[in-house]
Amino acid sequence: MDCLFCKIVSGEVPSTKVYENDKVLAFNDINPLAPVHILVIPKKHYTSIKDVPDSEMEIIAEIHKVINHIAKEKEIDKTGFRIINNCGEDANQVVKHIHYHVLGGKKLNP
Ligand code: 5GP
Ligand code: ZN
Repeated sequence: MDCLFCKIVSGEVPSTKVYENDKVLAFNDINPLAPVHILVIPKKHYTSIKDVPDSEMEIIAEIHKVINHIAKEKEIDKTGFRIINNCGEDANQVVKHIHYHVLGGKKLNP
């Protein structure tokens, strides 16, 4: 499949990895919008949340576990951070492999 984030998972496209386990990968966004801007993705390809069956929804909890871990490691757990998931056309989802943006390290716009 021709998917940029699958290629990042496989290593075909390089990335700056922040965290990795058997199911989840986190890496720095190439175009950071805040001092901390990390993308957290499942290693398995899902286009968006619409593509995640109820029976596999625990991957979303796993992603949030990783987000908590990263927030502590990057020391934004006390100052706060934002989690964004763009889903589909109206949300301007560009990369069609589900990903959660984690933004922090400065006061974000409301
Ligand atoms: P979306 O708009 O789909 O929610 O976000 C896609 C994100 O992927 C954008 O923030 C963009 O900067 C990031 N991105 C696009 N291509 C690459 C890449 O090759 N490497 C990394 N690390 N991030 C990328
Ligand atoms: Zn993919």
